[in-house]
Amino acid sequence: MIRFNNVHKWFKDLHVLNGIDLQVAQGEVVVVCGPSGSGKSTMIRTVNQLESINEGEIWVDGKNVADPKTDLNALRAEVGFVFQHFNLYPHLSVVDNITLSPIKVKGMDKAAADKQAVALLERVGLAHKKDAFPAQLSGGQQQRVAIARGLAMEPRVMLFDEPTSALDPEMIGEVLKVMKDLAESGMTMMVVTHEMGFAREVADRVVFIDHGKIVEQAPPEEFFKNPQHERAQQFLRQLL
Ligand code: ADP
Ligand code: MG
Repeated sequence: MIRFNNVHKWFKDLHVLNGIDLQVAQGEVVVVCGPSGSGKSTMIRTVNQLESINEGEIWVDGKNVADPKTDLNALRAEVGFVFQHFNLYPHLSVVDNITLSPIKVKGMDKAAADKQAVALLERVGLAHKKDAFPAQLSGGQQQRVAIARGLAMEPRVMLFDEPTSALDPEMIGEVLKVMKDLAESGMTMMVVTHEMGFAREVADRVVFIDHGKIVEQAPPEEFFKNPQHERAQQFLRQLL
């Protein structure tokens, strides 16, 4: 579903992605971890071209996303993105946040979009908040709305960039639960997170990135029990 071939990216002189090779199969859940500044956000953002790349190729569902001819609206409909800071539209109600793209980008009619939004809100446990505005919701609730909004485009892939790092501790579980349900429904997911409990329980594979390079990837049981790379060992020690 996703394939990175020798991807490089520079921000001016800074070599942030230094030869990324990675494949994510359909239905697979890959957790990406690594030190702050190692390139995790940049890497995941290249998948739906929130960041461009300088060298290499990224293929998503058979399309070369870095090709200038790629239709970015179509790509972003297929690849949902959930941000650390939710990024809901503050002036729109919960339901309107969810229906905006299906109506604008896909041309869905409002009644059908509303119906779908309510079904998605039920799935994330927030049907009763459909007419609320983002500022009236807790962080955990806002993030669940953001996930519902991503799903409204019926994506084939969902990307998450530290979806729980901005949340108060008591709200992390409710968001991880929604993500776990989504993983169990068969969604292909790439998740940047430091929630190693989630990685252990839900990930098929953990990818460890350091200085823009994937230095280790393994199933979670292997990665946590016996990390090979010294930087990975150090990283895991710091989380304890
Ligand atoms: P991570 O998500 O692992 O913390 P990032 O991908 O955000 O790392 O950043 C990798 C490196 O690229 C960092 O040194 C960061 O400061 C730098 N960087 C990220 N975004 C930009 C940008 N838009 N312009 C310049 N440098 C950036
Ligand atoms: Mg980041």
